[in-house]
Amino acid sequence: MTATPVSIGRRPSILPGDEGASGPLVDGFGRVHRDLRISLTDRCSLRCTYCMPEQGMEWLARTSILTLDEIERVARVAAAAGITTLRLTGGEPLLRPDIVEVVDRLARIRGVDGEPLHVAMTTNGIRLKELLPSLVDAGLRRLNISIDTIDRERFATLTRRDRLDDVLEGIEAARASGLRPLKLNAVAMRGVNDDELVDLVAFAIAHDAQLRFIEQMPLDAGHTWDRATMVTREEILETLSARWDLEPVPGRGGAPAERWTLAGETTSDGEPCTVGVIASVTAPFCGDCDRLRLTADGQLRNCLFSTSEYDLLPVLRGDASTDAAIDAVLRACIRGKLPGHAIDDPGFLQPARGMNAIGG
Ligand code: SF4
Repeated sequence: MTATPVSIGRRPSILPGDEGASGPLVDGFGRVHRDLRISLTDRCSLRCTYCMPEQGMEWLARTSILTLDEIERVARVAAAAGITTLRLTGGEPLLRPDIVEVVDRLARIRGVDGEPLHVAMTTNGIRLKELLPSLVDAGLRRLNISIDTIDRERFATLTRRDRLDDVLEGIEAARASGLRPLKLNAVAMRGVNDDELVDLVAFAIAHDAQLRFIEQMPLDAGHTWDRATMVTREEILETLSARWDLEPVPGRGGAPAERWTLAGETTSDGEPCTVGVIASVTAPFCGDCDRLRLTADGQLRNCLFSTSEYDLLPVLRGDASTDAAIDAVLRACIRGKLPGHAIDDPGFLQPARGMNAIGG
């Protein structure tokens, strides 16, 4: 069975011979892929202005959403090809009714080294208080919680929902759970929360968490992103440096965030507190990228900004479905990967899919 790219604009070069290949998932630039991000749903309990329009969202058809069995099967094939980490995303992954079973089944999968896969989750924190004990029992190992502001009115405006209290309860539950490192993600936005950067870091320190600022990327539903007005890594560091001495943390590897220690701040375990910046726009880290994505409707994407997708649905649901065919699509997807996101290219095309349907 051959992989079908759904192309909007650029067309990747798909090389023959993926079926029957073995070994790790290596792209044409020598990058070995170890991290599979699985979007479980495109639905969300919030409506962040930079992610979704207020009205008129076109949701994925329910019949196209991957079942638990299908997700587990793709994850098993990916694990046999060297994937070691699964990150569950959305939309909001905790909206999926079978989320605890998803974690339970995925956490039982072992990688090529015989060790269980590392199952992590990115969530908005709503429902976490209620679900976290079961998720930890099921094998969840790591949490990233998105919180762009700790100001109640601002939160309600930004997310179009008055749910800050639920998010704060979720963060408190995460702090108490002992899952570490606990990471809080904030998109830095001009005129929205750029006056709150120090407060957000102080909030994270008080919750034994690591704040990670994310440069806003051209993935917004309204297509209003502007390179000239975005809050940059440099600006974030300048603001934080006025409050703390920052010391770079070495050994980043393929991690998206550069990290700095915050002089004089320690966690309740006595570890140095750190802050991270994910500078996807001004300091891209595509050369070390080890990530691929599976959308809730069964499309494989080799980059957040990819304009091509590789459709696993017919491979999973066809009469002659085999693990070898799934593996071949994974390899075709990786072999079609471009060197980077090309945001600065004049011909850059924003993906047609919204961030909620790609997964973070
Ligand atoms: S932009 Fe694409 S290639 Fe670059 S780090 Fe993100 S997912 Fe990887």
